Amino acid sequence: MTFETVIGVEVHAQLRTASKMFCGCATAFGLPANTQTCPVCLGLPGALPVINARAVAMAVRTGLALRCDVRPVTQFARKNYFYPDLPKGYQISQYDLPVCEHGRMDLTVNGAAKTVSIRRAHLEEDAGKVMHESDGGGSVVDLNRAGTPLLEIVTGPDLRTAEEVVAYLKALRDVLMYLDVCDGNMEQGSLRCEPNLSLRPEGSNTFGTKVELKNINSFKFVKDAVTYEIERQTRVLAEGGTVQQETRLWDSADGRTVVMRRKEDAHDYRYFPDPDLVPLSISEGWIEELRATIRELPDDRRRRFMRDYGLPAADAGVLTGSRALADYFEHCVALFAEPAMISHFLLGPFLRELNQSGVTVDSSPVPPERLVELLKLAHDGTISLNAARELFPEFYATTTSAAQLVEEKGLRQLSDDGALRELVTDVIEAHAAQVAQYRGGKEGVLGFLVGQAMKRSGGKANPQKVHALFKTLLS
Ligand code: ADP
Ligand code: ZN
Ligand code: MG
Repeated sequence: MTFETVIGVEVHAQLRTASKMFCGCATAFGLPANTQTCPVCLGLPGALPVINARAVAMAVRTGLALRCDVRPVTQFARKNYFYPDLPKGYQISQYDLPVCEHGRMDLTVNGAAKTVSIRRAHLEEDAGKVMHESDGGGSVVDLNRAGTPLLEIVTGPDLRTAEEVVAYLKALRDVLMYLDVCDGNMEQGSLRCEPNLSLRPEGSNTFGTKVELKNINSFKFVKDAVTYEIERQTRVLAEGGTVQQETRLWDSADGRTVVMRRKEDAHDYRYFPDPDLVPLSISEGWIEELRATIRELPDDRRRRFMRDYGLPAADAGVLTGSRALADYFEHCVALFAEPAMISHFLLGPFLRELNQSGVTVDSSPVPPERLVELLKLAHDGTISLNAARELFPEFYATTTSAAQLVEEKGLRQLSDDGALRELVTDVIEAHAAQVAQYRGGKEGVLGFLVGQAMKRSGGKANPQKVHALFKTLLS
């Protein structure tokens, strides 16, 4: 029997607010344990929560970008459970009245269009952190993170492969980062994803029992964990067993998923409206105000790059995958209208240099003006494009002007007609046999002859001119 995989994804995005969801404590990362706390986020009796308006605004903007309906009235609920990182004994979350619902996201996966439904996006607070000391010193709790605003974004069970899950997560991360509502850092846990995965016999229209996967902190682990889990469940079912409803952790060291906890259902949490927080009305006027702050989204920008600059889909995708890179590209194009050349250079030598030095586009030592200065020299034939590429690592590390560096390195292309003619004549004399072949109709030999001339010139001859000279002299 063959099985179909069904996957729905829950994402928790830490919102980039300065203060927490229900109190004024800072959300900064990496500070001494328990220094960013107050009676509200410590869960002391009698302390009252106050809703962070900025967090609500971020949730609404994200919902709008994901084409959700924004509820005119939304409500917070208590999700009750016990764990040492949750001092109140409940998490303030949302249940039946989430701030956003019924959205969608359009993806392209391996060239094919794919739409993923967004069931809901709701606000909640993060828990603290429990750390288990290795030297037998017991466990300690840090509540700095407790109360940090999270937006939980839940898809319908629409995904079918690991590639689709990764494509969805990348696209979602791009949107969150474009909107500036989340820093998108998976390693630090500001973007956490939990795929829910089940199998069903091919052709069936009821869902199988699902397993929720946690502890996945990179795109690569998403792919590995989902792939592993598909294989595991296939094996269980093929052997006549049944899949248990459970939460499993991805163990990246062992390359497998392991059981964390068994079956839990919504009713186990005894959800009820939080009596400390009145229902929140979100006015049409505010929604429109927030809608107006949404700039062009990555997917729209990708399409525009393809349409207006004639870039291939893959290149446009990489450029617009980062707002900073897309901005950098457009800045260059505004200075020098050669989008294809600029795109190639950015995706090649430029990104390679940045990656190697661990620098982000924002803090690139080469501003667009300087990059364009170098590309112009390649465009007008002063140097070859190859020379520009080879020169780039050095150019990147200095503040010397492109023109000066070209002179210092002696990279100026040989474009002088007399010198080129001499070069080409030498090659013709040295390769009588090939010349005869070319004259006999073997046009392909021209490439060999041009190559010889380039070699003799140490790569400095202008290849177009050399090509043209051979044609004239051999005709
Ligand atoms: P829970 O209450 O356990 O979190 P939900 O019904 O809220 O479950 O769904 C959580 C996620 O799991 C959603 O993304 C949903 O699309 C997905 N999902 C639900 N049922 C299945 C299933 N049988 N197989 C795969 N994914 C599922
Ligand atoms: Zn606090
Ligand atoms: Mg769940």
